[in-house]
Amino acid sequence: MECSGVGLHSGAPVAMRILPAAAGSGIVFRRTDLDGFEVEAISRNVARVSYATSLMKKGVLISTTEHLLSAFIGLGIDNAMVEVDNLELPILDGSARPFVEMIRKAGIRKQRRSRKYLKILRELEMREGNKFIAVYPADTYSVSYSINFPHPLIGKETFEVELSNGSYLKHIAAARTFGSRQDEQAMRNMGLIRGASRENCIVLTRDGIENGPLRFPDEFVRHKVLDLVGDLALLGKQILGNVVADRAGHAMHTALVSRILRDKSLWEEVTVSGEETEEVASSNSRAAAGSAL
Ligand SMILES: [Zn+2]
Repeated sequence: MECSGVGLHSGAPVAMRILPAAAGSGIVFRRTDLDGFEVEAISRNVARVSYATSLMKKGVLISTTEHLLSAFIGLGIDNAMVEVDNLELPILDGSARPFVEMIRKAGIRKQRRSRKYLKILRELEMREGNKFIAVYPADTYSVSYSINFPHPLIGKETFEVELSNGSYLKHIAAARTFGSRQDEQAMRNMGLIRGASRENCIVLTRDGIENGPLRFPDEFVRHKVLDLVGDLALLGKQILGNVVADRAGHAMHTALVSRILRDKSLWEEVTVSGEETEEVASSNSRAAAGSAL
């Protein structure tokens, strides 16, 4: 399973390949351009977080991980090896949909190991100015996200979704990232969006969008849910809890993850009967999975 594209922030060309991985290994990135150096998609490796979430281990960077990790959670993939030959994942169309399609085409396989969930037992609320993020106990994974963006097409949007039962694929996966024409030059000057184009993000103008139509009328807030799901994947397990966010961003999402992991009284690890871990299957999965099971 392969694709190639450019990184949104670095503009770097990158080829990516997703391979099956043994039960219990989680999601691991491998830099094929750096002797196969591996960086696990876990909170401990979170690096700079501003416009995207990046991982770093011993100085080796994997940038903009959130959309692919979001697709993995949405599809129920627990284990995968992701090979890239550069420092940033491809942005493709700016959503998680191309990743979802790519993984579905290769197939998904159950592994003979019970899936371990991180079940939230106590609430945790974090505030930073007018930004808010919290998690509350629940038996399933659900998200409620609000944004308030001063633009005639956006304003205040709230989106609530129960992420099990296929709703991620239907309501979240296709929502694209967005940026505004007005901020463009400043961001380009700072080297933050070298790979941005009308093909990989919604471009907002002063009173509309340049590259319509939108995929959903509230595509913006849905993309925030997509990002949140991808950042929460850094817990290393699927979560059972209700996450509420208001004007949060990558920095707050990943701060929530590290606070949860640090305080073991907030959660317990549980299995749900009949729920097994899943991995990506692919044409060469047989060989790779031989050692997996
Ligand atoms: Zn995003």
